[in-house]
Amino acid sequence: MEFKIGLIRGDGIGPEIVEEAKKILDTTAEVYGCTFRYSDMLLGGASIDATGLPLTEDTIEEARSCDAVLMGSIGGDAATSPWYRLEPSKRPEAGLLKIRSALGLFANLRPAYLYNELRSACPLRDEIIGDGFDMVIVRELTGGLYFGERHTDMVDGRLTAVDTLRYNEDEIRRIARRAFEIAGKRRKKVTSVDKANVLDSSRLWRKITAEVAAEYPDIQLENMLVDNCAMQLVRDPAQFDVILTENMFGDILSDEASMVTGSIGMLSSASLNETSFGLYEPSHGSAPDIAGQGKANPIATILSAAMMLRYSLDLDTEADAIEQAVQAVLSAGYRTPDIYTEGNILVSTAEMGDQIAAQIRERKADTV
Ligand code: NAD
Repeated sequence: MEFKIGLIRGDGIGPEIVEEAKKILDTTAEVYGCTFRYSDMLLGGASIDATGLPLTEDTIEEARSCDAVLMGSIGGDAATSPWYRLEPSKRPEAGLLKIRSALGLFANLRPAYLYNELRSACPLRDEIIGDGFDMVIVRELTGGLYFGERHTDMVDGRLTAVDTLRYNEDEIRRIARRAFEIAGKRRKKVTSVDKANVLDSSRLWRKITAEVAAEYPDIQLENMLVDNCAMQLVRDPAQFDVILTENMFGDILSDEASMVTGSIGMLSSASLNETSFGLYEPSHGSAPDIAGQGKANPIATILSAAMMLRYSLDLDTEADAIEQAVQAVLSAGYRTPDIYTEGNILVSTAEMGDQIAAQIRERKADTV
């Protein structure tokens, strides 16, 4: 089996962490007998430096020719980088928004999983953490308030700003189906989060989600108001399996859920379109403060690569192998500086990649 994978190395720590993810993909391919061909593409600051633009048509076309794209983070230090003296539409982040919409990436998946080995990094009390938690936030990414009509006008002598929150039933149905399909591969529960006591868009969200739920009788649907969900995430995170929500609520809740795990360098993400294509990237930024020092934790990007194998390439066994290797390396005590505590073994970005690759080889050797 051969797959074409786009690689966007990005800015800051991006090139270092993508290199380690590629190391893991190459090891997985060698051990499990598949072939990954790579195509390097530019986005963000690196693209501005090379072409003057944060995203070019060439990158969009090349991405369309790939089975999936794996990306490091993009962007720089806003206070010092010349990229932020450009007008907003020419800055690195504009490229990211544009590629998401050009590729129709409407479903954003952000897992929040607490590794037992890292529970000391979790800001919640031990009795709340219990046996840990494991959830995925499925966020609608191309509609809602961030994409609605907006304007600022002088009304009756006062500056007045308007943003529009709009969803149609098709946009809700397709993201709801994605959430139910993902729940079907997990613990079979969807919590749909809205503000149906106030917003019309939320009442439509609830109606369509109930219709979709009828197509998936083995999956439990629960509705929750967004303010309650924000509280429940820190009161009892283990109750959640898949959280389904609209764009702005998902933006806020997914950051809250990731902070609850306490380890930003561990969190993967995926953005999917109607086909099996997806763009996979760590949830964190480009960490310009530690770029080029071998201190970056590559695990979020490596776990993003595992998600890519699972959701875009349908390679579940290989994805499991990567996730289990990460778990084994943490159990053995290896830590990059961001997750290091007394008594562990401190490793660099590349050494973390080497340890995970070695685990993939060893575990496969043990099973044959
Ligand atoms: P950040 O996530 O880059 O960094 C926040 C803190 O976490 C820093 O102290 C950093 O050193 C640390 N950190 C982040 N990832 C780490 C890793 N893998 N290993 C170890 N430590 C890690 O957030 P920021 O500083 O607010 O943003 C920096 C740049 O990244 C900005 O230009 C921002 O726009 C961009 N950004 C990009 C994305 C993306 O590409 N999707 C997402 C968020 C931020």
